[in-house]
Amino acid sequence: MSTGYVDLHLHTTASDGVMSPSQIVGYAKYKGLQAIAITDHDTIEGLEEGLSEGKKIGFEVIPGIEISAEHSPGSMHLLGFFLDILHPLLNERLRYLQKARAERNPKIIEKLNRLGLDITYEEVLKASGGGQVGRPHFAQVLLEKSYVRSYQEAFERFLKKGAQAYVDKLRFSAKEAIHFINEASGIAVLAHPNTLHMNQYSELEKLILQLIEDGLKGIEVYYPEHSALEVAQYKNLAERYGLLMTGGTDYHGIEKGELDIGVGRGDMKLPYDLVERLKAARN
Ligand code: AMP
Ligand code: ZN
Ligand code: FE
Ligand code: FE
Repeated sequence: MSTGYVDLHLHTTASDGVMSPSQIVGYAKYKGLQAIAITDHDTIEGLEEGLSEGKKIGFEVIPGIEISAEHSPGSMHLLGFFLDILHPLLNERLRYLQKARAERNPKIIEKLNRLGLDITYEEVLKASGGGQVGRPHFAQVLLEKSYVRSYQEAFERFLKKGAQAYVDKLRFSAKEAIHFINEASGIAVLAHPNTLHMNQYSELEKLILQLIEDGLKGIEVYYPEHSALEVAQYKNLAERYGLLMTGGTDYHGIEKGELDIGVGRGDMKLPYDLVERLKAARN
């Protein structure tokens, strides 16, 4: 029986986080956590470094990912834990997503330029620090160049779904994403169900039953943006359908004091027991 705490949803510079994989592993250990999962968007590029830093300093790192899947009107993200990072199908699918991003990013620049904003792709690349480029990096440059007063304003005015410079990106269906996570020995978990924007419990229940049929194994119950009612509902669904429960802060390192690794807004405490259950479910 272990008494430590964990954080199973974190981003690094490999996607849109601010800390490198080594830095986030070191930070988690410094904060007294017992284990973390690195779950960058659509990429496993940070995992080798994160895993080797974990070995070096004696800290448990779970190789994970967060994949955006097709869904409307909200957004659906799927987490994968304990991935075999060398698996050919996983790597092939992720290369496809990288290609889709490479095609999308210049289109966002084009839209911003057409709106009269002076911003170049080179500036965004620089902001990304060499990892995968995403909308947060566009937001960062818009903020630096004083086109907006806050990171949030950049999303509201320009970058969020439906905003002036929004460009959709290619996504896999949930079924396909769950399939390649499973193929790579990963455990597929539905991330932050509140972003699905399902208003009725019954609607969410129906969707989850379909995802279970597709190979879903768990649900992210604990998340800083979940209300107490949502946590109770997700827990109830997990118990009813035998799903694993996970939780994490989705820390990117840009939250500036609002949110921290492991504790979220100060009220999160995720026992190591969650990890033990994930491990027991591996086969
Ligand atoms: P991308 O992968 O390029 O689609 O960017 C997705 C990332 O942008 C998410 O992980 C969030 O960090 C951030 N993001 C998306 N929508 C918003 C929003 N409305 N406000 C703030 N950040 C957002
Ligand atoms: Zn992110
Ligand atoms: Fe997400
Ligand atoms: Fe995330």
